[in-house]
Amino acid sequence: MSDCCSSSCDIGAPAKRHRCPVNGQEYKAVSTTTILHHIKEPWSWEENQQAYYFCDDPNCEVVYFGQDNTTIKASEVRTGVGIKEKNQNAMLCYCFGVSFSAAEENPEIKQFVTEKTRGGICACEYRNPSGKCCLKDFPK
Ligand SMILES: [Zn+2]
Repeated sequence: MSDCCSSSCDIGAPAKRHRCPVNGQEYKAVSTTTILHHIKEPWSWEENQQAYYFCDDPNCEVVYFGQDNTTIKASEVRTGVGIKEKNQNAMLCYCFGVSFSAAEENPEIKQFVTEKTRGGICACEYRNPSGKCCLKDFPK
């Protein structure tokens, strides 16, 4: 009886996480739909049939990268990636236009976003360059 090695069982399925080729940290997959909504000149992007990932390290210039380790850098993305920009006016919630400083000054904004998210009234997959919900990025 041999162990069912998870890597052999997963052949064909794209890995849910992959290491950023620049900073070496593991990041979660992002849909190509999200990438198309944020990349500059999406019509000239050479999309490969593979999984893509989002690097949120503020010190890393990579925004998206593929399983083949091709990268899309911040300079190639038309949306300012708030969690990478080191200033308080950077965007935190793209669905409702909330900056980091606004969220800090007014805790009711998080309540508003939480309620709207619960009601399904958000568009994170399209509007947030991470493709994910912004709530985890709000100040505690
Ligand atoms: Zn990176």
